Amino acid sequence: MTNPVRQVLHRVFGYPDFIGQQEAVIEHTVAGGDSLVLMPTGGGKSLCYQIPAIVRDGVGVVVSPLIALMRDQVEGLRQTGVRAACLNSTLSYREVVETEAAVAAGKLDLLYIAPERLLGERTLALLSRTRLALFAIDEAHCVSQWGHDFRPEYLQLSELPELFPDVPRIALTATADEPTRREIVDRLSLRDAPLFVSGFDRPNIRYHVVPKNNARAQLRGFLAGHDGAAGIVYCLSRRKVDETAEWLRGIGVNALPYHAGLDGATRQRHQDRFVRENSVVIVATIAFGMGIDKPDVRFVAHLDLPKSIEAYYQETGRAGRDGEPADAWMVYGLQEVVTLRGMVEKSEAGEARKRLEVRKLDAMLGYCELATCRRRTLLGYFSESLPGDCGNCDNCLTPVAVWNATEASQKAMSCVQRTGQRFGAAYLTDVLRGRDTERIRRFGHDRLSTFGVGADLDPHQWRSVFRQLVARGLLSVEIEKYGSIRLTDASRPVLRGEAEVHMRMDARSAAARPKRTAREVPPAPDPATWDEGLWEALRKRRTELAQAQSVPPYVIFHDATLREMVARRPRTREDFAALTGVGETKLRRYADDFLAVITAHPAEGDRPEPAARR
Ligand code: ADP
Ligand code: ZN
Repeated sequence: MTNPVRQVLHRVFGYPDFIGQQEAVIEHTVAGGDSLVLMPTGGGKSLCYQIPAIVRDGVGVVVSPLIALMRDQVEGLRQTGVRAACLNSTLSYREVVETEAAVAAGKLDLLYIAPERLLGERTLALLSRTRLALFAIDEAHCVSQWGHDFRPEYLQLSELPELFPDVPRIALTATADEPTRREIVDRLSLRDAPLFVSGFDRPNIRYHVVPKNNARAQLRGFLAGHDGAAGIVYCLSRRKVDETAEWLRGIGVNALPYHAGLDGATRQRHQDRFVRENSVVIVATIAFGMGIDKPDVRFVAHLDLPKSIEAYYQETGRAGRDGEPADAWMVYGLQEVVTLRGMVEKSEAGEARKRLEVRKLDAMLGYCELATCRRRTLLGYFSESLPGDCGNCDNCLTPVAVWNATEASQKAMSCVQRTGQRFGAAYLTDVLRGRDTERIRRFGHDRLSTFGVGADLDPHQWRSVFRQLVARGLLSVEIEKYGSIRLTDASRPVLRGEAEVHMRMDARSAAARPKRTAREVPPAPDPATWDEGLWEALRKRRTELAQAQSVPPYVIFHDATLREMVARRPRTREDFAALTGVGETKLRRYADDFLAVITAHPAEGDRPEPAARR
């Protein structure tokens, strides 16, 4: 084994192989080239600069805007024996001085630093006296003024090539679009920089979208398959966050709220608990997530619709960074569409911007109403194609029936028309179903020709019809007029019988879905060798070790490594060293602890060692 890069991969990180484009990026950087790396969240960007920083002479400087993350990143590296430190505003003066001394003495492999600090005089003076291995610019899209995360401090990074002409620069991001890429290359003056792109697919994430009938009951049903797992529940408003968190605690879920209305200390405390404990569920507005690197988030649930597919993909992407199975789950109903459209219309934005936002929202709705593979559509949105259906989304797993809803649509539309385009879906449904209510009689709508023509569908089905018609623009919702439903230009051809409408047949209830446990893995653990008691004992040991050092459990070992311990039952240090995620340092520090747990849980009988996975 001569290749130094692979040696570091095995010896330090304990991984058997590179994933995706990692090796190409690393070789290129080790040789001194600039590059732009585009990988999805969880795609393994960190190794792309960490290994070159270790292999090349000098310290690798990592620029990151996410100060809150640095501590855990540095801790994760130290656990593997890499000499890492950070410089940011959260450090005490003494810590700063110590870190600077370590840099000057050439005692660091990696230095994480906030951009504004990097370009301060003091740091520049320090770095100009120091041998530098590389600059890694993380979250590089922050340099783009068109992007959604622009940070003015990032603009100054354009000075780096002049100040340090011989130091290679590697820019990394998970944000994909063309204009942003060009802007990054341009502003950071990346020289002849190849673009390394990894697929955006997140095959371990299972997508589900369910039409809302009772959101809390539906969420509860979903969470039942995720006992003891860490997850995020997203809501649109602060109030809903608070109420949902409280309700979840009431039914025994370890839930904590997170939104911009909470004071800084509370937010920090809740975030820390989420990161450090195994099974906290954070209920949050979208303010939560940026800067959370927790690899073992098992689910992301949306109680409200995100504003765009990009936002949805980014938020759901926070699940399952460790590559283990994870769920992205969402309920949505007509009311959400009304609320979001209303927010766009009432916003101060210019007309062009509003049109763009409406288009994005429509794409999001289209995604919800899909009857075909969700992953294909998602990836298509990012200009990627999947050769076949994914087999790991709700529509692939439980194919939805499609029905010809042309007649139902005509009834719904003419009911809208006859009642004067002034009413919401609930009232229209009552008219269609011929309900005898005081309100209907008062308006004289019991005498309309559409009164009672829709008795063949139940209220649930009508709700689904209205929702799908609105989602496709075949009906519209007046925000100003309390959600009353109106016809659109696209309604006419349907009313005149010139266009057909096909709709997905909604499953009647979420409870019909098979229950999954959080611990299904691809490849699924062999039930013959899976030992729940051992698994729990290993997790407990990990928590104890983490608490003793005040670090998050996952920096000791990821779930995947513990799972391998259960499956392979290593008995010797040699066996232990062969586990994924066990490098030299972790072998030295932890092998005895975990081997003792395994010895204390003898396998039933004396069955032969199961064959190693992969
Ligand atoms: P990103 O920064 O792109 O979101 P990370 O660098 O945090 O992703 O990596 C995501 C996960 O994949 C981490 O848990 C990391 O330990 C794991 N990982 C990265 N590279 C490898 C590899 N070559 N083999 C196995 N696991 C890897
Ligand atoms: Zn699919």
